[in-house]
Amino acid sequence: MNNQLTVAIDGPASSGKSTVAKKIADDLNLIYVDSGAMYRAITLMALRKSIALENQEALVNELKHSSIDFKRTEDGQRVYYNEEEITMAIRQNDVTNAVSVVAAHPDVRTVLVERQREMASSKSVIMDGRDIGTVVLPKASLKIFLIASVDERAERRYKENKEKGIDSDLTILKQEISERDYKDSTREVSPLKKAEDAIEIDTTAMSIEEVVEKIKKIIFEKHPEFDK
Ligand code: C5P
Repeated sequence: MNNQLTVAIDGPASSGKSTVAKKIADDLNLIYVDSGAMYRAITLMALRKSIALENQEALVNELKHSSIDFKRTEDGQRVYYNEEEITMAIRQNDVTNAVSVVAAHPDVRTVLVERQREMASSKSVIMDGRDIGTVVLPKASLKIFLIASVDERAERRYKENKEKGIDSDLTILKQEISERDYKDSTREVSPLKKAEDAIEIDTTAMSIEEVVEKIKKIIFEKHPEFDK
């Protein structure tokens, strides 16, 4: 496909990546790949099957015998692990707080990065995560790096949780977000880092709609064929 569009959206926890990416995917008819959901999926399985989070070999073994799929439905995208729907289960706090440990294993990343590249190999996609612009899709058509203050991100996550019926405490959320930022940016393999050629957008004082419009404008400047 010669007019294939690949958009990489990276940034720290709760910076608005997935909401923005989903909206752009819908508007421009792109496939949305939520790479974080894949790390969350293997973390959920580790917790359920009592695989130690430190046991890289067992985690990789579990992953190699599994499939992780995304399906688009009328009410949003759903995530499946070996055909079981895990969309909500991977958003629970225990998964959120354990995922950075699992995502730090190089061999876990190798398996998942390969699957992510495969998903983007022949289709126009928008993929969000931490290392999409730096590692997964270094030749992406466009790289965006979203940031926002910890306070703002904690408040967003609090509201999001509330809407999903998940109880949370704002102060604890702030601590958890800072902790996850720290783990994700200081790990040895593929840390959260802005790619040199990424465009940084600070979304602290912006609405989702404003961020979406800003990114779409950048896409259309480079790829007017998507402006229909
Ligand atoms: O994006 P989300 O918050 O769902 O990601 C969950 C976790 O998965 C992150 O905190 C990070 O540890 C890991 N992750 C990653 N690389 C990605 C996407 C997510 O390490 N590309």
